[in-house]
Amino acid sequence: MPADDASSLARVSRAARAFDVRFDVIVVGAGACGLSAGLAAADGGAEVLVIERDETPLGSTAMSTGLIPAAGTPEQAALGLVDSPDIFLGDMLKKTKGRIDVDVARRLAQESAETVAWLRDAHAVPLTLVQGFLYSGHSQMRMYGSPNRTGSELEAALEAALARTPAALFTGARVETLYAEGDRIVGVETVRPDGTREAIGCGALILACCGFGANADMVRQWIPDMAEAVYHGHPGNKGDAMAWGAALGAELSDMTGYQGHGGLAAGFGLPILWPVILEGGFQVNRDGLRFSDESLGYSEQAAKVNAQPGRVAWSFYDERLHQLMHQFDDYHDALRAGAVMTAPSWAALAKTAGLPVETVLNTVAEVEAATRGEMKDAFGRDFTGKPVLSGPFYAVRVTGALFHTQGGLAVDPDARVKKADGGVFPNLFAGGGAARGVSGPDADGYLAGNGLLTATTLGKLAGRAAAAQTGGVLVRG
Ligand SMILES: Cc1cc2nc3c(=O)[nH]c(=O)nc-3n(C[C@H](O)[C@H](O)[C@H](O)COP(=O)(O)OP(=O)(O)OC[C@H]3O[C@@H](n4cnc5c(N)ncnc54)[C@H](O)[C@@H]3O)c2cc1C
Repeated sequence: MPADDASSLARVSRAARAFDVRFDVIVVGAGACGLSAGLAAADGGAEVLVIERDETPLGSTAMSTGLIPAAGTPEQAALGLVDSPDIFLGDMLKKTKGRIDVDVARRLAQESAETVAWLRDAHAVPLTLVQGFLYSGHSQMRMYGSPNRTGSELEAALEAALARTPAALFTGARVETLYAEGDRIVGVETVRPDGTREAIGCGALILACCGFGANADMVRQWIPDMAEAVYHGHPGNKGDAMAWGAALGAELSDMTGYQGHGGLAAGFGLPILWPVILEGGFQVNRDGLRFSDESLGYSEQAAKVNAQPGRVAWSFYDERLHQLMHQFDDYHDALRAGAVMTAPSWAALAKTAGLPVETVLNTVAEVEAATRGEMKDAFGRDFTGKPVLSGPFYAVRVTGALFHTQGGLAVDPDARVKKADGGVFPNLFAGGGAARGVSGPDADGYLAGNGLLTATTLGKLAGRAAAAQTGGVLVRG
């Protein structure tokens, strides 16, 4: 069986092994977490090797919108936006109903502004504060993004930054085996697509190889609700970190948590981002009926959309929202691909979409009345404060997708992997999708941006701690 068809070939060996080469810090995976970890460890003076299974590092990071939350930044203050790590932590606790590791979440909130400033100022990653809309669950505008708000820009900027450091990036090599002596990781073995194997020793190991979204067996086991859903994340994320962790006796937590999305253009595989809904758009099913409070969050909306006939819904919006969406490259892709329908009236749009016209018109009338404050929305959504939608109108047929998993290796606030029987491993770290997130055990705990928050900030913390303990001398950062 070719290696890439397997679910996970990750394993741990306790056999004695000689290594030809040795690095202070090895990082597995070159998405946002691995590259941030590599940058931080290199800043700390460590000899760093980042190992990536793909020839070109992309990861789920390059598929993402690339938005990273940061609380209490000078840019927010300059705009008069009141925010702080405590407010951000409060938002995380509210969204997850407190079902997170509060110490880790507090550390991430406290570090978030420094992470964005460090990436931008020390490593020239172009990040600016995104304005114009508020993501559900965030009480303040605190998202930072690249110029076109794409993860591919973020990933490319991080890779370029790593190339400016002495750190080495080894691509086209899948880490298969971790070598352990007691609780200590002493090295790894990589496998090339042609079967070539290389054994490399390390002083510390950082797992940045994301979650198990691409491992159908693990998704069926842990997130059965999404087993039939489209997986719209990186195909290389097969749960290797969890497999190594389980073999080593690490604590795995929140394995049922995930980031879904209730707005993936069906048949196109392009996300229609949630500002279109939060700013006044809404969703109907094949019968032309609404079925939920869409404003609660795009993650939990995935399962709600997939519970509708045909596992699809239509996102409805208007010209104002169409213009708002132009700031996202993903939306341009959707337009180019022909995923977006438009018509001058709701009746014409319903007809174009193949939906029952009369029912759609009734649904629209109810949304308009709720927007004017004349009636309460049946699903409890507050539509007031936004303009009534006005033509031309737009629709996209969408399905609910699994974007990435949120459970993983439990870590302490320095990103050290916790042991199931207490304490931490002395030289093993994890971040991003490889680690337990700050979203709790369900889809509804995911707060937009927290995937890249744990990727960049846990990556940074892991890199700094790994460099410090392997004797690196702080040279920058
Ligand atoms: C469409 C979409 C939109 C999103 N938008 C946002 C957003 O705006 N904001 C946000 O915060 N989050 C967002 N997310 C989530 C975010 O992308 C992830 O949380 C984040 O990218 C995870 O980063 P990572 O570095 O942990 O993983 P990845 O970026 O997936 O990188 C992991 C890397 O590890 C490599 N790898 C795996 N196994 C091995 C191995 N054994 N050996 C070597 N290499 C290995 C993989 O090939 C991959 O390159 C989005 C996700 C998707 C899919």
